[in-house]
Amino acid sequence: MILILSPNIDPESDTYGQLMTQLSRLPNIKVRVHRVEGAEQSLTEVYLIGNTSAIAIEEMRALPAVERVVRVSEEYRVLGRHKEDDRPSHFEYRGLRFGQDTLHIFAGLCAVDSPASVERMMRALSENGQVCTRMGAYKPRTSPYSFQGHGKLCLPYVFELAGKYGIKVVAMEVTHESHIDEIEAALDQTGRPTGVMLQIGTRNTQNFELLKIVGRHREFPVLLKRGFGITLSESLHAAEYLASEGNSRVVFGLRGVKSNMGDPHRNFVDFAHVPVVRRLTRMPVCVDPSHAVGDRSGGPEGILDVMHATAQGVIAGANMVLVDFHPEPHQALVDGPQALLLDELPRFLDDIRIVRAAFEKRVALQK
Ligand code: PEP
Ligand code: MN
Repeated sequence: MILILSPNIDPESDTYGQLMTQLSRLPNIKVRVHRVEGAEQSLTEVYLIGNTSAIAIEEMRALPAVERVVRVSEEYRVLGRHKEDDRPSHFEYRGLRFGQDTLHIFAGLCAVDSPASVERMMRALSENGQVCTRMGAYKPRTSPYSFQGHGKLCLPYVFELAGKYGIKVVAMEVTHESHIDEIEAALDQTGRPTGVMLQIGTRNTQNFELLKIVGRHREFPVLLKRGFGITLSESLHAAEYLASEGNSRVVFGLRGVKSNMGDPHRNFVDFAHVPVVRRLTRMPVCVDPSHAVGDRSGGPEGILDVMHATAQGVIAGANMVLVDFHPEPHQALVDGPQALLLDELPRFLDDIRIVRAAFEKRVALQK
């Protein structure tokens, strides 16, 4: 059961104190408080954990500071959509709204290789009105002998260049808790010129200890990729690990699943799941066409499969696109074959605009 408190409630106030005292008297119920700082207001949700079936909604609604009460089903308690659940399906970060009603493009380098590539990428983004990017510093690789990313060494120049080119959010995978400390230190060192969305990669979707640690770091929103060899429901439960530890600013990423049924694509494209995730949960949904498709093949009309897959996600209501670009793909240290070229960026963005408008028209048709 979730109690949604009046906005901007002060945790030091008498009303809040009275509420907590009354809740502490509920037998065998654990209370967990979750506070989300938005641009305009702070929202406080109180989770009652345990057997809440005997607790009446009316009784909870009558408690001090309680505005609304939601009885949650077992599945995806925090992030799920429940009956009569009008909790928001968006969050704010660095002045941007990430929700099931918005769309952000995170085009960028799969792996940071040099300050020059980062600068060329960021300049192209800013010339095309983009304020988000992807920049891999920590790369989980199949072979231990492959390039694993420049790690903390590249963070200062990535963040400074992001600031210089007006990039507000950089999506960056972390594979270990020490990476979060390194990111925080580099942001402090550079004066916080940008924000970071922590990415949990498909190889770590069920790394539960990592999920718990990332979930306890409330500062950064998280992009959780779907596990490439598990069911959708298992991946949604993984997202819930982040939220259950306190971070519900989670974007759910579809990136294809491993199966040779998807050949010749690198993964079997699963973007038909976009509406499913939007229906079952309140998370914004990201699609990653680059890791799903995995190369630069195209249809006979000349549109690349990566762009077709992007369009399939966006026309189904995707809220974020994570996509690999590189100024010199043949020199890229990771995933060059699937990278789009900088001069393809304007066309890629135009294509997305067409499809997003089509999605909005499809929604309007239902009204
Ligand atoms: C990535 O986005 O850089 C990445 C490695 O993706 P995934 O975890 O989906 O393979
Ligand atoms: Mn990659």
